[in-house]
Amino acid sequence: MTRRSLPLVDIPQFWALCTLMALATVTLLPTRVRAQAVEAETFQRDSKQAIDEAYTEHIRKYTTAPALNSPLTDYLPASSTVPTPAKVLGDVAGVPDVLPYAEDVYRYFRLLAAASPRVRVFTIGHSEEGREMIAVAVADAALLDHAKENSSRLAQLGDPRSLKLDDSKAQALVDRSFPIYYITGTIHSPETGAPTALMELAYRLAVDNAPYVQYIRTHLITLITPVVEVDGRDRMVDVYKWHKAHPGENWPHLVYWGHYVEHDNNRDAMAMTLELSKNVLNTYLEWHAQVLHDLHESVPFLYDNTVGDGPYNSWIDPILTNEWSMIASDNMARMQAFGMPGVFTHGNYDTWSPSYLMFMAAFHNGISRLYETFGNGGADTEKRVLSPDEYARTWYKPNPPYPTVVWSQRDNNNYEQTALLTSLSYFAHNSKLFLNNFYLKSKRSVEKPANGGPAAYVLPQDARFLNRQIQLLKVLALQHVEIQRLTQAVTVALPPPPHKEGEEPKPETPPPPTSQTFPAGSFVIRMDQPFSRIADALLDRQYWSPEDPQKEPYDDTGWSFGDLFNAKVSRLTDSHILAAPMSPVTDLTQVTPGDAGAGPFYIVDNSAQVSLASLVYALRGAADVSICDGNFESDGQKFAAGSLIIGGVDASKLTSLLKQYDLAAVSIASRPAVKLHSAEAPRIAFMHTWLGTQSEGWWRMAFDKLHVPFAYINTQTVSKESDLRARYDVIVFAPVGYGSGQQIVDGLPMWGNALPWQTTSLTPNLGKLDSTEDIRPGLGEAGVAHLKDFVQQGGLLITAEDTAEFAIEEGLAPGVFVAPRKEARVVGSVLNSVVLNGKHPLAYGYDGAVPLYSSDGMAFTVSNIAVNYHLLTAKDYKRPTGRGSADDEDIPQGRAFEKAPPLPAPKAWEATALNEEQQRNNPYLIPAEYRPQVILRYAGMKDLLLSGLLANGDSVAEHPAVVVAHFGKGDVVLFANNPLYRGETVGSYALVFNAILNFGHLK
Ligand SMILES: [Zn+2]
Repeated sequence: MTRRSLPLVDIPQFWALCTLMALATVTLLPTRVRAQAVEAETFQRDSKQAIDEAYTEHIRKYTTAPALNSPLTDYLPASSTVPTPAKVLGDVAGVPDVLPYAEDVYRYFRLLAAASPRVRVFTIGHSEEGREMIAVAVADAALLDHAKENSSRLAQLGDPRSLKLDDSKAQALVDRSFPIYYITGTIHSPETGAPTALMELAYRLAVDNAPYVQYIRTHLITLITPVVEVDGRDRMVDVYKWHKAHPGENWPHLVYWGHYVEHDNNRDAMAMTLELSKNVLNTYLEWHAQVLHDLHESVPFLYDNTVGDGPYNSWIDPILTNEWSMIASDNMARMQAFGMPGVFTHGNYDTWSPSYLMFMAAFHNGISRLYETFGNGGADTEKRVLSPDEYARTWYKPNPPYPTVVWSQRDNNNYEQTALLTSLSYFAHNSKLFLNNFYLKSKRSVEKPANGGPAAYVLPQDARFLNRQIQLLKVLALQHVEIQRLTQAVTVALPPPPHKEGEEPKPETPPPPTSQTFPAGSFVIRMDQPFSRIADALLDRQYWSPEDPQKEPYDDTGWSFGDLFNAKVSRLTDSHILAAPMSPVTDLTQVTPGDAGAGPFYIVDNSAQVSLASLVYALRGAADVSICDGNFESDGQKFAAGSLIIGGVDASKLTSLLKQYDLAAVSIASRPAVKLHSAEAPRIAFMHTWLGTQSEGWWRMAFDKLHVPFAYINTQTVSKESDLRARYDVIVFAPVGYGSGQQIVDGLPMWGNALPWQTTSLTPNLGKLDSTEDIRPGLGEAGVAHLKDFVQQGGLLITAEDTAEFAIEEGLAPGVFVAPRKEARVVGSVLNSVVLNGKHPLAYGYDGAVPLYSSDGMAFTVSNIAVNYHLLTAKDYKRPTGRGSADDEDIPQGRAFEKAPPLPAPKAWEATALNEEQQRNNPYLIPAEYRPQVILRYAGMKDLLLSGLLANGDSVAEHPAVVVAHFGKGDVVLFANNPLYRGETVGSYALVFNAILNFGHLK
């Protein structure tokens, strides 16, 4: 490979060449011999190096068929000084029936580091539950000894502003530098094979004298985090141990993976809420790595899913998409040449959403990669029966997996290591190309305003948006994006609005503005910085065409953070913004004024900040806090309904809380004359099921981060607790994520054995968050009755998505129904909604439009009767055959004409009014004071979609999205959207906290 800088135009040709070479290895072209010769030479082991015979023998024993191994991993080189994984595992990596805890895995890496100068271990942070995360660097000692100097060179390549974008300076650095290839294992806890595969991989890289391994360790540093989800790993090992101790019995599924979420820990790379995300990204960027390669197990036998299928993410550099293909092509070709079945790329993964861990690299000028290998969810050797879509031969699976296979953890470890070793070899042999690409991608990120744009995003100085803007800026800061603040006002040109075909400009409407002035204090996210792409990807809007050939989006189709944070973000193409006077913001905690003033009273205006509830709970018992029930003015300043009036508080305590929660207060001399109610800080219980804890985990995390306290209970405790109202004011029932109302009630089937989730000496990591002797029983009929009693006696139940549906099915929300989805298609989109009832406490702080996250287009209908019976409306009525035209009325002959009363014509968000006839002696008629109140409705079709996919949205448009139902003395809040989701929906958090803070005042 040439050492010269490779201009962009060469990349496709290079790829074509690689593809040809790859083809050459599997077809009978004249180049075949040469290609094979190179390959044989490249991957031959060192015949002079002794083999660890016992270890090698066990590798063979645990590999279930010879084809499921390769010449790279069917032996282990011997060392008299360096311990093999058997030192800790008692047998080889991938040995059946053994899953090591994270600390055992770490113990091995530390033994390895003590024995070999080619291995170093670093602590990179801790999990939510305090468990350590590590990174292991493996390379020739000379590389490791000079890692710091190399890192400072890579830092300059990664921020070409330091080189004044001078390619020749970059070339000199590329010539002297070596890349960092970062591999991460077992983020998904039931995907268990990676830690042992990585233990053995590190041993091979440190010990094996095969020329290709020597080449790898002298040309790059392999960085390994063997366990990403360390809390989940230890729980998974516990579950597995329980399973081994109870042969022949069913074992509990992994109820909790990480402290908060399950599978979605690999959807956190946008909002960066989890410790594992921060630790991996910080490590990746501290090392200035070029690759982040994440290991998973869900597809037989090895799917390099990075290449995937369309649509590709729109914000990545085209160089990257070609790098994906280059590496994967070589990778697949090598493994095909080894004769390993079931190895492929392409497949059904689209690269659209950037929420995956590996995407941290894609959006920080590196290369994202991901393997799906095959795994048995533990270390059992099992007969696996594949489905036809898994074993069918397709154009991208010329040598597909076997229809049935006996699969072992060792097989998994063979595949993972073989694939990684060939990848590392390819990367090492092309290290200069990839370093140059790293520089080019970084440079092109800095040059973004001139190439494709935009110039910048601006968050205008606006007190009403500031709290949520800060939350958004904190995410960008976690992404290592630079933030600036205007030091004086600036006016920039606006692009003309898009002209819609066939739309005539209306003469009476004023022409759209051609420029906009941003006041001093506005935040600027410049696009001429190295990490402009992640900021652009988060702040821009997404459009997924309903016509897209990809009919099954892999994940959310829309996420525009400006919308989801309700933060008012402007995308600017006018590069004048970059010349405006501005200064860097290094400490976001200093943005709010903080100082509360002398008091004795304080007003905190309500602008739907995320943290008003945090303040109210923090001041419980330490201040007198009220909530005002209408707009008012004080000293000429306007305040919104829902604002907090605080008295009897220590000013310094208030100041420090305001700072902590990014809030501002106005000091006043006397309590304003406005209708108030006391802010009670009600007692909250948070109810989860044992079916799944992921969606509730995102809610629980939001409550924890905002320090809103709650009792953590489950459906089984509710089934046993007959007087919930005596203990709690509010029960939060976050979405389950899957499962019908019936499943919530019934739980898992009761045949078979009990499935405990408890802390025992066998399972020390289970039962900590919550415990039960048997996860199978659900809420039960008793639990439903207790919940009903709770609401009837004045409690507040908060529900969303499937739990809202559950509340409706159980009769807790009279007059609320789920709107039939019809043909609507929404897949994780951002939809617009309209505040319908701004005076209702739930809407305090909101006005106009509120962007909402909708997972699948759920919406409600409301009715004045308690059964889902459709009353005839004007829209339904079709005139019969008779006189006149279609719009005329028929007229009976021979008598005076009696005009019929008009049929009701409700809007989609309204209940149909009943006439006297329909109301008479109607037991289903809901008394006026118990009728549901629609707080937010979805916008009309024209304005409905903000980001993502929307097709056939008529059953969503204008329909109720957020409703308060009334049952007995209490209330039930129902969200058709998910207001607390993946740390991304900060703009809708306050809807939930408004409900809580105004407990008892929601009618
Ligand atoms: Zn996975």
